[in-house]
Amino acid sequence: MSKTGETRTSPAVAEVVDLVSTLIRFDTSNTGELETTKGERECAEWVIERLQEVGYTTEYVESGAPGRGNVFARLQGADSSRGALLTHGHLDVVPAEESDWSVHPFSGAVRDGYVWGRGAVDMKDMVGMMLAIARQFKIEGTVPPRDIVFAFLADEENCGRWGSQWLVEHRPDLFEGITEAVGEVGGFSLTVPRPDGTERRLYLVETAEKGLGWMRLRAKARAGHGSFLHEDNAVTILSQAVARLGTHTFPLVVSDSVAEFLAAVAEESGLAFDPASPDIEGQLAKLGPISRIIGATLRDTANPTMLRAGYKANVIPQTAEAVVDCRVVPGRQAAFEREVDALIGPDVEREWITKLDSYETTFDGHLVDAMNDAILAHDPAGRTVPYMLSGGTDAKAFARLGIRCFGFAPLQLPPELDFTALFHGVDERVPVESLEFGTRVLEHFLLNC
Ligand SMILES: [Zn+2]
Repeated sequence: MSKTGETRTSPAVAEVVDLVSTLIRFDTSNTGELETTKGERECAEWVIERLQEVGYTTEYVESGAPGRGNVFARLQGADSSRGALLTHGHLDVVPAEESDWSVHPFSGAVRDGYVWGRGAVDMKDMVGMMLAIARQFKIEGTVPPRDIVFAFLADEENCGRWGSQWLVEHRPDLFEGITEAVGEVGGFSLTVPRPDGTERRLYLVETAEKGLGWMRLRAKARAGHGSFLHEDNAVTILSQAVARLGTHTFPLVVSDSVAEFLAAVAEESGLAFDPASPDIEGQLAKLGPISRIIGATLRDTANPTMLRAGYKANVIPQTAEAVVDCRVVPGRQAAFEREVDALIGPDVEREWITKLDSYETTFDGHLVDAMNDAILAHDPAGRTVPYMLSGGTDAKAFARLGIRCFGFAPLQLPPELDFTALFHGVDERVPVESLEFGTRVLEHFLLNC
């Protein structure tokens, strides 16, 4: 990991590990409930102190509920008429069960070449890199080519309801003049073996996200005594619909981002991917753990996750409910809903509890060139490739304002590290060298954005 184009230990590189470690020590667990989510305000206040002590003017905004703290800071660039670049990261993390971990999940321990703790890869790593570079630019009087807005956000782990989505709806002024954005989940390396025995590091830039929909299904029928003959049973009707939906395979759809990713991997590795093959998932498995994400971007999915019905063993209830987690490929929403309706049948009604649209942009233009240049400057054996994320990020909210969003939080990773398993996983950690590499790349990128 020393194949870097630059040897200066910049102030940002020098402090990034410390910043990430301190960020992790703020327990910003997001439970999805307002009453129990904590720590965001304290963490945001600490971020404000780090920015203000080097001269930034900051704006603190609570997104619709007390304590849901967001921080905005703007660095003026050489040409403000070009439209600003939003660099965003979320301060909240998913909860962690301490007894499962080898270190305390909120210790921020720096050990064995890693920074450990909840948020190490999702996404206090990027938050620390952003903060380190923002501070360095201000201290050194660096003027980036265009305005850069640094945003530190609440509630990403709950779909941004009390974070990005709220801000976009209630404070669009905060995003005025912003044309493009970078944040999670992308920029990390995937090492692929080449036919000649060498290796190539692909840096996956997120250019698309599947849509996210949490759907409630409800069957209503006739209540009755459990001992009688009774054909019209809500539990039976609902469970048949849930089973049909949960075992259904939606059609294969190869969107542009996925096609470009597969072509690049095939070119580098010599592996063949035939999206028309019934065994495309098997072919993808050769890519290792990343196939969990890539495979999930080839079709819509509808996974039943919750069931509720009844209150007594001998009472047939009038209603039965289920919740289904739906993830929809860009361009498929209407077709997906038609398919769902056919599967659940006329006796089951459905409604969206949460619905966030998919998103896709093209992998081209000046900003993409700047990402590629930054990677190549610090890893000549690297190559940037677009990919689609099966999940969702704050980008979904910003895209609603017409902002072009990318996942670019650069990290050069050891080939053997199962990076995807660390997201929301036990013993979440990030290599110190990856953080230092990422900081150099992000600095290079922001100097040429
Ligand atoms: Zn995240």
